[in-house]
Amino acid sequence: MKYQTVIGLEIHAELCTESKVFCSCKNGFGFSPNTNCCPVCTGLPGALPVLNSKVYEYAIKAGLSMGSKISKYSVFERKNYFYPDLPKAYQISQLEYPLCIGGHIELELNGVTKIIRLNRIHVEEDAGKLIHSENKGSLIDFNRCSVPLIEMVTEPDLRSAQEAVALLEKIRQILVYLGISTGKMEQGAMRCDVNVSLMPEGSSVYGTRTELKNISSFRSVFAGIEYEVKRQTDILEKGGKVIQETRRWSDEKMQSFAMRNKEESQSYRYFPDPDLLPITVTPEYVQSIMAKLPRLPEQRIKQYVTEYNLPIYDATLIASERETAEYFEDCLALYNKPKEISNFIMSDILRLIKGQNQSLKNIPVNPKKLTDLLKMVSDGKVNVTVAKTVLEEIWKTDEDPEKAVVRMGLMQVNDMAEIEKIVREIIAQNPQAVEEFKAGKSKALAFFVGQIMKATKGKANPQIVNELVIKLINI
Ligand SMILES: [Zn+2]
Repeated sequence: MKYQTVIGLEIHAELCTESKVFCSCKNGFGFSPNTNCCPVCTGLPGALPVLNSKVYEYAIKAGLSMGSKISKYSVFERKNYFYPDLPKAYQISQLEYPLCIGGHIELELNGVTKIIRLNRIHVEEDAGKLIHSENKGSLIDFNRCSVPLIEMVTEPDLRSAQEAVALLEKIRQILVYLGISTGKMEQGAMRCDVNVSLMPEGSSVYGTRTELKNISSFRSVFAGIEYEVKRQTDILEKGGKVIQETRRWSDEKMQSFAMRNKEESQSYRYFPDPDLLPITVTPEYVQSIMAKLPRLPEQRIKQYVTEYNLPIYDATLIASERETAEYFEDCLALYNKPKEISNFIMSDILRLIKGQNQSLKNIPVNPKKLTDLLKMVSDGKVNVTVAKTVLEEIWKTDEDPEKAVVRMGLMQVNDMAEIEKIVREIIAQNPQAVEEFKAGKSKALAFFVGQIMKATKGKANPQIVNELVIKLINI
């Protein structure tokens, strides 16, 4: 029998607020263990949580960007369970009244658009971190306790490992764009639980699902799903039954292992946290957040292609990161030549910034300088090759492009007489190439242009050089 894979994801993303969700401890990555904790986040008796309003603002941004309805009324509940990295023995989360309800993400895969529905987005706190060491036993770092999380729960709309990874990439891009999460999976800022089940092709009744817990890389999500599909197919084909359970994925062994039977929400004995009031969100507040939302990649790509005539490749690349898109748009406001700007951003700016750990916001070649340089190209003051050299120079020196061009003696030579003199010299020195050119070898023209550009240190106007070579050889 042929089976259809059915996948739903529960995606956790850490929000990058300054402080934690219920106390004023610093929220960040890479601090010495147990240096960012207090009585509240370590659950000492009598300590009381206070909601960080930034967390709600960030979560509403996520909800609005994913088409969710923002609840006017939401409630924090205690999810009770014991784990060594959870000193309170409960996690503050949301169950009955989550902040965001519904929503959807559009996926573009192999030229087909697919809508993946969201069930909800709720706010909760992270647990601490257990570090298992061979000689010191297991150690606990409480820094991560009460780091704010949003959990995005999808409907079981995904049908392959490829779709699941594409959805995660899309969500990651949105969160980073909004500036509400670092999206750094290698630092644990995004993790997900993957629910996988199989049903006979053509059926609409879902099979029994298993849940792969806490996976923290795209690669593992992909491998985990592929493995689980194969494992469940083998069971079903042998006439067996898939057991509903939670499984652990091992990257080393590339296998999943049974952890425990899947618990239902009642096992956690959820109840409203008596220390936290229900939250009321007014439509005006939601509106004020909506007004601050940045335009997302999809909208930008559409505009770049339809209004600015950029090729889809350029548009997608420029819009993929918010800083690149904003840099591009700032340039465009100063110089209305989209393709010239995107060419320089893609081939030069992104190359120069690569590996420098710099932000496009504070690179030495700001939009004003880049567009001044591009204007020099269109005014015939430098050619494109020289402009690239100048760009690298002013990246280092922080000069104005025009000053740098003058200082480097690279102003383009447009003087016909001056160029003609050099062209004549080069032609005289290369009789064999002249013969080849006359015999119709197009390579010979490129040779001449190359020689002349070399003799003028790249300063000659290439168009004039081309015309002159053809004219003077054919005399
Ligand atoms: Zn704290």
